Amino acid sequence: MAIVTLHLSTVKAYTENRPSGCPHCGSGLLQRWGGATKPVRDTQIRTAMIYRYRCVACRRTFRHYPEGLSRADQSLRLLQLAAIGWTLGLSLRGMSAILSAFGVTLAHMTVWRDAQAIAKSVKPDLSRRKVRVLGVDGFYTRLKGKPQGTLLAVDLGSGQTLALAQIEESDTQAVAEWLQPLVDQLGVEVIVTDDLASLGVAVEQVNCKRQICRFHALRWIGRTIKELRSQLDEDWQESLDEVQRTVHDMPPDGQRLLYMLKSWTGLEAAFLLCGSALA
Ligand SMILES: [Zn+2]
Repeated sequence: MAIVTLHLSTVKAYTENRPSGCPHCGSGLLQRWGGATKPVRDTQIRTAMIYRYRCVACRRTFRHYPEGLSRADQSLRLLQLAAIGWTLGLSLRGMSAILSAFGVTLAHMTVWRDAQAIAKSVKPDLSRRKVRVLGVDGFYTRLKGKPQGTLLAVDLGSGQTLALAQIEESDTQAVAEWLQPLVDQLGVEVIVTDDLASLGVAVEQVNCKRQICRFHALRWIGRTIKELRSQLDEDWQESLDEVQRTVHDMPPDGQRLLYMLKSWTGLEAAFLLCGSALA
């Protein structure tokens, strides 16, 4: 079973270096212009020291933020955590509850805005990285009582969340339009999705290979076995149990076991399903 690790950004309470240049004009001649502590919403730090600098060339001042922090009250790590919460299917309210376990109070509307901010905050990086295998998943959040379709793109190599968009996964055209720039910029060859047909069509439109996520494949097989259970009589139930067990545990000789089951039972449909899951 593939495990996707989502790395959380490091968050520092102090800057460890001087800014490399003025954000306005690029000049490297900078004077420190005082500093102040700022309360921060994060899983570990509560306050951060932010220094101001003044550019000698253009005379404008700016704040230099420590790693993982920005003008926003929340740290980058907290934003990422919120996005991960959604990928696990948590509601906005559920995510607020989890964050409160870290001593962080966040209204659920704020959580929602943060997740949207992630897509923007990772954009500058996209030109420099290569992502061969992209994971795409859709999920629903409830916003003002209405279900809201959301799509998330994850680099399955590093586990990094790359983009988040408010798109219904059934809207093939919108999904393809969202995927195309990601595929072009990142050099994506394979897109891992669930078994939803419309996502498959979108993946084809952007000329990528599609792989069905094992998690979703298992869910799909589970549904089929359940269907077979209701259609077949009692004599078959034990064989179905065996198929289900084999697919779930994935023993090294799983394919052979399923082949034997097929020979004994003639349960062709189940064999085909499970064989593809184990391949
Ligand atoms: Zn300047």
